[in-house]
Parts: sequence; structure tokens; C-alpha cells
Amino acid sequence: MKITRREIIKQLGLGSAALGIGGAVVFGADAPVIPTASSLPAKHGGSADVLVCGGGPAGIAAAYAAAKRGAKVILLERFGRLGGMAVQAMVGPLMGRCQSKIKSEILNKIGGPRIDYMKLDLQYFDLLTEVGVEVWLHAPIVGVIMDGNRLRGVRVYTKSGDLEFFGKTVIDATGDGDVAFMANVPFECGREEDGLVQPMSIMYTISGIDPAKRFHCGSEGEARHRQVNGKSWAQWVTEGQESGELPPTVGVIRLYYGVQPNRNVVNATQVNGVSGLCPRDMTKAEIDGRKQAYAILDFVRKHLPGYENAYIDAMPAVIGVRETRRFEGCARLEKEDCVVGRKFEDAAVFGASFCLDIHNPSGSGQAVGHNQHLQGEAERDRPYDIPYRCLLPKTVDGLLLAGRCISASHVAHSSLRVQQIGMGIGAGAGTAAAEAAAKGILAREVDIRPLQQYL
Ligand SMILES: Cc1cc2nc3c(=O)[nH]c(=O)nc-3n(C[C@H](O)[C@H](O)[C@H](O)COP(=O)(O)OP(=O)(O)OC[C@H]3O[C@@H](n4cnc5c(N)ncnc54)[C@H](O)[C@@H]3O)c2cc1C
Repeated sequence: MKITRREIIKQLGLGSAALGIGGAVVFGADAPVIPTASSLPAKHGGSADVLVCGGGPAGIAAAYAAAKRGAKVILLERFGRLGGMAVQAMVGPLMGRCQSKIKSEILNKIGGPRIDYMKLDLQYFDLLTEVGVEVWLHAPIVGVIMDGNRLRGVRVYTKSGDLEFFGKTVIDATGDGDVAFMANVPFECGREEDGLVQPMSIMYTISGIDPAKRFHCGSEGEARHRQVNGKSWAQWVTEGQESGELPPTVGVIRLYYGVQPNRNVVNATQVNGVSGLCPRDMTKAEIDGRKQAYAILDFVRKHLPGYENAYIDAMPAVIGVRETRRFEGCARLEKEDCVVGRKFEDAAVFGASFCLDIHNPSGSGQAVGHNQHLQGEAERDRPYDIPYRCLLPKTVDGLLLAGRCISASHVAHSSLRVQQIGMGIGAGAGTAAAEAAAKGILAREVDIRPLQQYL
């Protein structure tokens, strides 16, 4: 059957059956020009009090918090599973601490911070739909709808034409801050001195381990103390780097316990000098990271007792990206705030704490320089607050930032980027956005102080 451009346009509105899926569609030499889906007129997708963009830990907590405060909430996620990095890049457990009622409620419902990658997305889906959130998967945001400097909504690409979604407040929880970027909010990226960002990593799991000999190494410090056949694990890895058995950027092989008894989660690959905003870099990172995973597998099979028959049993859909854009907000969280444990009157998150976890942007292991006394181990922070102003973009109204893209320095970001703190930030954004909708005001006009009791 030959089809014409006009027929395609007519049929695009009618679903897959009308497009001949299941029967062959043959194009002749005079094949018609097929319109791209985005060139078709956009249709209305939905309107909400709070439109959450991105279904990672920050977006989930934002949607949950807003819905619990009575707002009509729509959540848009580009991929087929909720959970963000944890599900798409097999990143876990859910690390970091903060005093957040919403975060604790979510952790209780999903069984705590040690997650099961296979079912976490379904747990998140149930959690959100129970409080009435309308979830759209396979809904990548490709544009914004602006009214001057006020963000009104977003455009979502679908294979049958764009859809427009509107929100009284839009929450950008896309990790990379795609919405804020498209709305022209100024941003920074990477270290102040050279713009380099933290490396990317493929995390994966291995099975086939002798359960009696399962090995654990959670950090650089632990690697220096854990002995394997008369040498520290750190020494084995350094020698592996020197001999070329391991890639030069693999300076530590962290082997975590997963939820299953015969498994390890491997956090060791490291791809440096690549940007999560560039598909050419992402292609390189995906391929290099996966090749590194196999080199590490060969290494543990050879040198770790009980791992002779180990094999990779799961690789993630996408490589893990630690750091991209950080947007200009009404305040910027600094390293000093984290180190001294600063408190803020307009706290959206209370008592956040992890460590200043900078995987070396220009070499292997932990970043050198931010605390040389720690011999490559991450410097500790003290429980600090995150001000609401860090979630408020300076130049655009109708928008709140949540998760790793909020306004912070490179070093402060290295602490707040973990998932439990991301949930705390999302809870703050969702609660404020619901209040803005209830009062008919802008997120910028919300006084967060009376709302802190719910956070
Ligand atoms: C290798 C690695 C290891 C890590 N280890 C840990 C760890 O052990 N524990 C821990 O707690 N944290 C860890 N982190 C950090 C943590 O995973 C992330 O910083 C955290 O997930 C960020 O949360 P987020 O909600 O801001 O973004 P994300 O988790 O990235 O979620 C953003 C969501 O938005 C969606 N999205 C993006 N763009 C669009 C778009 N245009 N349209 C629609 N949807 C979009 C994405 O698909 C995704 O679902 C690690 C990170 C990496 C990369």
C-alpha cells in the first residue's frame, strides 16, 4: 500500500491500527515526504495546579507532596519507568540524610533505602497514583510555553504529534534542568576553575559469586583496609591500573551488597571528560563505560577468591550522569554552608547531610584538592539546611527547581545530589507549588515558613 502525506496526517490522529502497523506499508520510488511528529499542530495534553517534569526521586517527592496538599498534579517522564537514575542507571542505595516527613513516608512505603531496581518503578507508580497524581510515561519534554517571563507549560513529543501541558507552577525535576534551560534560566556547569564535571559511570550487578566469600567494599577508605590474599584491595586495584589490566580511570572498585544474597552491585567504572548534554559525548561514555565493566569483571574473576565464575547479570539502560546544569536561583548554596552546617530561616530542606562526594573530574578516584588531608576520601559536611530561594529561579516565574539542578556551587552540589536529599528538595518544591495554586499566587510569593511544619 502506498501512503501519502495527507493520509498520514489524517491517520496520525487515529492511533496505530490506522497506520497499518501489523500489515506492510510499502514506499515506492515516489515516496511521499513524511512530516515529523513535531511539525504537526500540538494538541492539549492536560492542565494541572502543579506540573512536575521528571520522574526521579525529586520529581516523585514533589508530585507526592503537592498531591497530599490537595493539588491536581500531572507528572511527565520521558522514559518508560519511574525512578530516575536509580531505575534507569541502577544507582543505589538511596543515600544521604535529611529531616523530611515526606521523604520518610516515601522510604517507608518502598521498604527503605536498599532498593530493588526491578520493582522500584512500580512502587513509585503505586505511591503516586494512590494520592491521585496523573502519571505520563514516554513523555519527553521538548519545549516550553512562555508568556513573557512566566512559564505556563511544556510541549511533549509523542510519535503522533506534540502535546501541550499547562501548570500553575511547573517543577523542573529533570536532573539536567531541561525545562529551566528551555525557559532561558542562566546556569553554570562544572568546576569553577575549568568547567569539568564529575565523571559518568555504568553501574551494574554481578552474580555467580560463592555466597560464603561475597566481598564488600563501599569506599576508598574501606578498600585500603580490606585484605585480599595478603594485600589491601586498594593495592590490588592500583597494581591492576599500572599493569593495564584495569582502565586508568578505575581507581577504586566498590562492591556493594544488593538485596539478593549472591549478588554485588558494582560501582567502579569511570568515564571522564564527557558532557551529559552532548549526544556525541554520551555515545562515547555509554560504550567506554560498558567496556570498562567487562574489564572489571575479568579482574575480579582473576583476583577475588569466590569470584572465579562471576558474570554480569544486569546492565542499566543508560549510563549514570552525576553532574550537568546548576541554575541561577535567588540564593546559591555554597561549600561553606555545607561544611559549617548553616541553618536558614527559609529552609525548604532541614538537616541535609552526606559528604562532599566529588568523583575526580580529571582522573581516577575521589577528587584531589578539596581536602588533601583525607587522602582521597570525601570530606564530611554537617547537617545543613537548603533555602527555598535555591529552588526559585532568579529570572523566570511559574517555575521551581528540584533535585540536582538547583542553585548550588559545584562542591555543594556534590553533597545534595544524592537521592534522599533530592527527595527532601522535591518535597519542599511540591509543598510550595501546592500552596501557590491554593492561594492563586506565584511560587516566588510563597512564604515557606508556615509550611515548614509539613516538611
Ligand atoms: C553513577 C552514579 C552513582 C550514584 N550513586 C548514588 C548512590 O549510590 N546513592 C544515591 O542516593 N545517589 C547516587 N547517585 C546520585 C543520584 O542518583 C542522582 O543525583 C539523583 O538521582 C538525582 O535525582 P533527580 O531527581 O534530580 O534526577 P534523576 O534521578 O536524573 O531524575 C530525573 C528524571 O527526569 C527525566 N527526564 C530528564 N529529562 C527529561 C525530559 N526532557 N522530559 C521528561 N523527563 C525527563 C529522567 O528520565 C529521570 O527519570 C549516583 C549518581 C550516579 C550517576
